[in-house]
Amino acid sequence: MNRSMPRIMGHTQVAGVIGWPIGHSLSPAMHNAAFAALGLDWCYVPFAVPPERLPEAVRGLRALGVRGVNATVPHKEALLPLVDALTPEAEAIGAVNTLHIREEGILGHNTDAAGFLRALHEAGFDPAGCAALVLGAGGAARSVVYALASVGASVRILNRTVARAEALVAALRARLPTADLSAGPLTPEAIAQHLPIDLVVNATTLGMWPQVEASPWPARLPFPKGAFCYDLIYTPRETHFVHQARAAGAQAANGLGMLIHQGAESFALWTGIQPPVEVMRAACEQALGGM
Ligand code: NAP
Repeated sequence: MNRSMPRIMGHTQVAGVIGWPIGHSLSPAMHNAAFAALGLDWCYVPFAVPPERLPEAVRGLRALGVRGVNATVPHKEALLPLVDALTPEAEAIGAVNTLHIREEGILGHNTDAAGFLRALHEAGFDPAGCAALVLGAGGAARSVVYALASVGASVRILNRTVARAEALVAALRARLPTADLSAGPLTPEAIAQHLPIDLVVNATTLGMWPQVEASPWPARLPFPKGAFCYDLIYTPRETHFVHQARAAGAQAANGLGMLIHQGAESFALWTGIQPPVEVMRAACEQALGGM
């Protein structure tokens, strides 16, 4: 089969991604490469869905027999009341990034948390019981903090808007009562107060293309050499934050691993087949080109 142009027939199974906008998504390249590599009669389509049409779109996906979709910005929270059931992870995180559309109803999953943990392990860092600093408290931070708390890490969440970090802690404490979580401001003083640390995660948008000079890590504070640095951003491939960590002699990884592994988890849910992770990685690398 021609990999770039799958032969779509009446029996082809359809999966996709909903977002607004959706043009930047790497998911179509990643999943279509995986279907082609395994010779599966599936295709993966980007759906540009404006927020006000999300309920209509979800009903339509089911009516059209679409097997599964991923969800990205701005739909992850808005999907919660639109599904028939939620996994415990999706409910605790308060966000859905994968819909599994079945005869008996639509199940809302969150594969971001598992994808993040897999990415950390793949990069050589075991987060079980570690002391972690999560910079940022938006949607992605919720999955990261849940994932870390679920493996017994103690997590300090620092955010520009402290109230948002406090709300995240309160929401997760209700689900994980024994978790060691705290919130504070994203300031050099607050960061310094928590050092030394085992893991620092950038879950802010600081450093994302085209703001490539920005970083959540203060210029005047040396990055702790013994800490592992994980940046959720993958464009550019080496953010200024990752550069700061590597320059200090620390190990670091970008967010491509999390993207690939959340996609791999979704692929396995829909198809029941082990995903070809290296094919998915190569497709993402190729789609990113020289970025
Ligand atoms: P979001 O909900 O919009 O949250 C953005 C976060 O960045 C908030 O904590 C926000 O702080 C902070 N922030 C924004 N501008 C800032 C500034 N100038 N100074 C300090 N903090 C600032 O976004 P999200 O969905 O959580 O995404 C966060 C990042 O994760 C993005 O770069 C996204 O691409 C990445 N991501 C990666 C993956 C992956 O698979 N690798 C998955 C999901 C997301 P306030 O609360 O104060 O506004």
